[in-house]
Amino acid sequence: MLSGKGKVAGVIGWPVSHSLSPALHNFWLNYYNIDGVYIPMPVKPEELPEVIKVLPKLGIRGFNLTLPHKELVIPYLDFMDEDAKFIGAVNTVLIANDGTIQGMNTDAYGFIRNIQPHIDGKKNKAVVLGAGGAAKAICYGLIKEGFGEILLLNRTQEKAEEMAAHFGGRVHVKSWDTRNRALDWADLLVNATSLGMESKEPLEISLDMLPKHAVVTDIVYTPLQTPLLKDAKGRGYLVVDGLGMLMHQAVPAFRVWYGIKPEILPELRPHLIKAQGVK
Ligand code: NAP
Repeated sequence: MLSGKGKVAGVIGWPVSHSLSPALHNFWLNYYNIDGVYIPMPVKPEELPEVIKVLPKLGIRGFNLTLPHKELVIPYLDFMDEDAKFIGAVNTVLIANDGTIQGMNTDAYGFIRNIQPHIDGKKNKAVVLGAGGAAKAICYGLIKEGFGEILLLNRTQEKAEEMAAHFGGRVHVKSWDTRNRALDWADLLVNATSLGMESKEPLEISLDMLPKHAVVTDIVYTPLQTPLLKDAKGRGYLVVDGLGMLMHQAVPAFRVWYGIKPEILPELRPHLIKAQGVK
């Protein structure tokens, strides 16, 4: 339903056509019978400043940001929450009633909520592969969640070192080439690289050293069962796919724009899988 008073939000990205966020938020709008809509907004990086200026004048409630805008948006914000400040990236913006533009980061929250039911008593050591924007949010979330040690491995080691320095003592770096051995005594293995995505190479890693009680999660969700998750599942590990992170990170955003904290209903996952042909 959409009236002249309808609440409008959307996702800004370049490209944005692959985004599942419109299917996700419009599912909830429909389910809760809210007068509103959520739209894709393709915006080139150089157009972002102009777009940010115009959106409050159009009465837009807010927007998500995806690549390459999560960091580019920062200079145009009036306020950033603690998570966004520390992570240095914003994935959710609220345009408040007084016109102020408020940035949040809900990726760390989404990642942790997705794995939380599976990691009770398993918070000693996490191995995180990748040092991009998502990995930074994940390390932040793992530290907040109480993990004792985080081992960070990235193809470009300097990026991992920079990130570890930002986090202080609990994040340690090892070289990308040692990733098979680094899994020794890990409770959690996270793929936060883009390896394993459709049209990308798979992540090359041997799980031989990974303890049997460990949880394996991949934040890539196209395909849903990445080669890493298939391998881990075949070896009997508990696996958690990346679609859950996407659903959970959207909850706080929906709440600030539309005023209801939405539920991750059982029908949502099949709806998203159908929406984008996620396998
Ligand atoms: P990003 O900032 O571009 O980082 C990409 C990461 O992948 C970097 O660590 C990069 O290593 C690594 N990488 C890329 N190609 C590689 C290769 N051939 N060999 C080894 N490492 C390689 O991207 P991001 O924003 O962090 O996102 C990472 C992935 O997570 C994407 O696939 C994204 O779609 C997904 N994601 C999912 C969710 C969710 O809700 N499930 C949320 C956010 C992101 P270098 O530093 O060496 O380049």
